[in-house]
Amino acid sequence: MDIVAENLAVCQICSPMDFRLTPEQESFRAEARSWLRANVPSAERGTGPLPSLDTPEGFEAHRAWERRMFEERWSVVSWPRSYGGRGAGLVEWLVFEEEYWDAGGPARVGQNGIFLLGPAMMAFGTEEQRNRFLPAMASGEEIWCQGWSEPGAGSDLASIRSVARPGDPEGTWVLNGLKTWCSRGAFADWLFGLFRTDPSAERHRGLTYFLVPLDAPGITVRPIAQLDGEPGFAEVFFDEVEVPASQVLGSVGRGWEVAMATAGSERGLSLRSPGRFLAAARRLVALYEQVALCDPARAERCADAVARAWIEAEAYRLATFATAARVLDGATVGPEASLSKLAWSGADLAVHEAAIGLLGSSAELLGSDGTPDGWLGGFLFALAGPIYAGTNEIQRNVVAERVLGLPRG
Ligand SMILES: Cc1cc2nc3c(=O)[nH]c(=O)nc-3n(C[C@H](O)[C@H](O)[C@H](O)COP(=O)(O)OP(=O)(O)OC[C@H]3O[C@@H](n4cnc5c(N)ncnc54)[C@H](O)[C@@H]3O)c2cc1C
Repeated sequence: MDIVAENLAVCQICSPMDFRLTPEQESFRAEARSWLRANVPSAERGTGPLPSLDTPEGFEAHRAWERRMFEERWSVVSWPRSYGGRGAGLVEWLVFEEEYWDAGGPARVGQNGIFLLGPAMMAFGTEEQRNRFLPAMASGEEIWCQGWSEPGAGSDLASIRSVARPGDPEGTWVLNGLKTWCSRGAFADWLFGLFRTDPSAERHRGLTYFLVPLDAPGITVRPIAQLDGEPGFAEVFFDEVEVPASQVLGSVGRGWEVAMATAGSERGLSLRSPGRFLAAARRLVALYEQVALCDPARAERCADAVARAWIEAEAYRLATFATAARVLDGATVGPEASLSKLAWSGADLAVHEAAIGLLGSSAELLGSDGTPDGWLGGFLFALAGPIYAGTNEIQRNVVAERVLGLPRG
């Protein structure tokens, strides 16, 4: 752990930071901890763990948990009270996330809405849209999926071919095309997605961001089974789907701007908070201590990997607090979000790889009881981290060109 201390010392020389919380923030932490410890679904209380959220019953069980949190204003703590939040600040949100994952809180089935679309809607939505959609998003009444990728458009999102043309009556739109890899799409209620509204425009222009209910006539949802057989994704087909003008987010032809704001949340601050990886790193250290008792030689072989993984999680936490401090000073998170994405996906992989190393072949036995948070399940999901939210190769390109100012390759 000396490396952390050394780096901190360096950081303090170039930019001193005070990591202490205020008494109000400490009392917020205590309140969150006490509520979560009493309410998070758990085996001890006979309320958990919840079944996998990629099954119909698990999806509904997770939706009910979102509702329970919403009732006590814990589902979106940093949102304004009028949308169901507590109006808490960014630091309080980070603190809440630490407590949530430390208490063993389940995966957030509403994450596409509350962490990705919600912030974009607050920035680009009309007041009518915010009032209509945000409370239902916060309560889990309406769960969203993200419709960006297409069979020929993943990394190069601007090459999407799904289209929207003006409908009749004027102001309405008619959508056609296909979206794929929509996480939670098999059971979600709504989709937010990009469609080409002006085929003659330069490819980043002429795109528009639509909000579409998945039960609209002309939509077909085809679930895609993952490695474990569960439909974690869906393809969504659009065949002459009519959408009113009130379901365009931002301006017509300016969808790229809204999408990049959404991507900033996905890669940067909101989708993957440090609390999630800190909790996993703590579980890893506990696992190391357990293995050290029964197989000291194996523990010794894995010690470096465990220490490195813990450091990566802790470094991501410190970097996130530094970003939060900049945002509180009025900065916006731009292409640096790509650095966060590289950090969180790397930390997740490092923690799970170290755990698999500690467990050896017995890792394969874990998780067979269906618990989604078993090390093996977590490892398989961590492998996807460098792909979703934009692949890590693309993030490195962004960092090279837009953060470091290097010439385009
Ligand atoms: C778990 C998971 C959840 C997902 N959820 C969603 C979702 O909810 N909604 C959604 O719309 N999509 C979702 N996706 C899809 C995801 O956004 C895409 O997989 C991702 O953007 C990559 O696109 P692709 O798969 O088409 O790969 P491609 O773009 O074909 O890339 C293939 C490989 O080439 C590399 N590559 C491509 N271009 C470049 C370049 N210019 N420079 C260097 N390397 C390059 C990539 O890094 C990658 O390694 C999800 C994916 C996963 C794994």
